[in-house]
Formats: sequence, structure tokens, C-alpha cells
Amino acid sequence: MNIFGVMTTHKFALAVHGGAGTILKESMTPELEIAYKEKLKDALDAGYNVLKSGGSSLDAVEIAVRVMEDSPLFNAGKGAVFTAEGKNEMDASIMNGKTLEAGAVAGVTNIKNPVSAARKVMEKSPHVMMTGKGAEKFAAEQKLELAEPEYFFDSLRWEQWQKIKDSEKIQLDHSEDKGDVKPSFDVEFNPNPDSKFGTVGAVAVDINGNLAAATSTGGMTNKKFGRIGDSPIIGAGCYANNKTCAVSCTGHGEYFIRSIVAYDISAMMEYKNISLQEAADIVVNKKLVDLGGQGTGGVIAIDAHGNIAMPFNSPGMYRGFVKENGEVEVFIYK
Ligand code: ASP
Repeated sequence: MNIFGVMTTHKFALAVHGGAGTILKESMTPELEIAYKEKLKDALDAGYNVLKSGGSSLDAVEIAVRVMEDSPLFNAGKGAVFTAEGKNEMDASIMNGKTLEAGAVAGVTNIKNPVSAARKVMEKSPHVMMTGKGAEKFAAEQKLELAEPEYFFDSLRWEQWQKIKDSEKIQLDHSEDKGDVKPSFDVEFNPNPDSKFGTVGAVAVDINGNLAAATSTGGMTNKKFGRIGDSPIIGAGCYANNKTCAVSCTGHGEYFIRSIVAYDISAMMEYKNISLQEAADIVVNKKLVDLGGQGTGGVIAIDAHGNIAMPFNSPGMYRGFVKENGEVEVFIYK
């Protein structure tokens, strides 16, 4: 209500990402570029329809992420990369900026839409994060759709893994080796120019001014020993707080965990009283870089006024946004 007792509504908006990395125009075919842009648009349209009809930002980010999880183009859900054991182990998270409730699943192998499992953990359990078999049992109890390993099989992902499976290397699926932006230890960027890219995520503000964020991933190719990245870690790969912003991250998870990227952006806004854009830029282009994370990723972030920031320190990031007027904008390169 405003001072005249009239109901006021907030400007709603939504942003999505489909992964960041060494995504270069010369490595992309026109067909693939169109395919990625179309799928990002589908995700934005799905979320926009929710927000336009007065739905919640939580519903909007969940549905937008589900659209990308259902596409083999992205490293999440159906397109998840392979672990060192030749399996698909997925991580996902979601957060409600109004209540600061959050949910996450990690290392799940048979849940068709891990983001929806994360939401069930948030809403139907007393916990924030569930892993592996326990998370799968809970998802089954919640009547979520499960899928056989074949559903997640993708020949390109399989080839990516074949190239490095006998090594100690782990690989970000959405980068190729340019020699200049490698992280400092045992990660090899993907040398395959037509490889598929990307962890996925969404952030939104709804007409009630409520913020939400969601992130979903297959992690990194050839990951070992139950490795879990930043995506399901609240505060690292996903965070939402109505007081500040909603953030979803993509990139080399170890750097994002150590930098507590998503929460740090929120904390800088809260404690330093700086804008969303400024806070996101400092974390992605300064703090992550100082830690050695140059070239390794980016974020999408939104505040309660519908301002959107999408900084990344890699050559490209699949990303896009839609505001109230319904005009969808999608981008890939810098
Ligand atoms: N952040 C994800 C992870 O490290 C990977 C990605 O964003 O592509 O698991």
C-alpha cells in the first residue's frame, strides 16, 4: 500500500544464465548460437509468464531453470557432464529472498529436475541441503519425476569425458584452452571448440518485491570422490535476500566457494550501501580475480527495483533478461 492506501506493485524482472567460460564467436556455429539463444528465450518466456500473471519469483526461477535442465544444451539436468566414474551427478539450489529459506540437493543421479528437488527440500523438509541417496529417496517420496541413467546420456558429454577420464584432470565443460586464463591447478579447459556449455541459473523479482534465485549444474567433467561445487552451496553459488539482491553463479566452483560469491555481493550492498552493479563488479572482476579466478566465470544478479547486473570475467556467458514490457534480450559474448 502507498500513503493513499492504494495497492502498489513492484516492477518485476527476470534474468537467466546458461554458463560462462571461454565462449568465443569463432568457435561457435550460427546454428548452435541460435539454438542457445532460443533456449535462453524459452526459459525467460516461461518465467515471464509466471511473473506477469502475478506469480512469485520463486515459481519464476524454478520454471526458468527447469526449461534449461530439460535441454541437452546445458550442463544441468538432461545435459549434465560425466564424473570420473562415468556417471551424472547433479547439484542444485534455490532461495527465497523474503524468508531467507533455502533448499539444495547435491550429488543426485536420478532426479529429472534437481531444482525442483531443491525446492522440495526447502518447503517440505526441516533441512537446507540433502545429498546423494538420501536426497533421491526424499525426491521419490515427494513424487518428483525420476529418470534412468540413459535419460542423462549425451554423446558429446561422453566424448568430453573420454578425453580426460584416465587423467587426474577435471574440466569446466564450457571453456576451451586458450592458454592465458587457466586456473592455477589441475583443471583443464575444454579444447573441443564445439563443446556444449553451461551450468544454469535464474534470478527474479516479482510484483510484490520478493526476490528469488536458483542454480543447477552437472558440475565439472571427470570430477571425483563426491566433489561438490558452488552451485548447491547457499551463499556461494546461490543467494537471495529481499533487503539486497538475488544472485546465481556459474564458473569454476572452487573459486566461487572460497569467495562466497553470491553472499558477498549481497553483504557488500547491505554493509557498504553500494549499488548492485558495483557490488557484483567488485566480486567478479576484483575479488575472484585476486584469488586466481580470472577467466573462470560470472554471475547474474537482480535487486528489488528490477536492476540487473551480469558481470563475468571470462570471454563469454550465456545470459539474458526480461523486464515488465516483455522484451527479451539474450547475449553470449562480452
Ligand atoms: N559452478 C559449477 C561447479 O563448479 C560449474 C559451472 O558453473 O559450470 O560445479
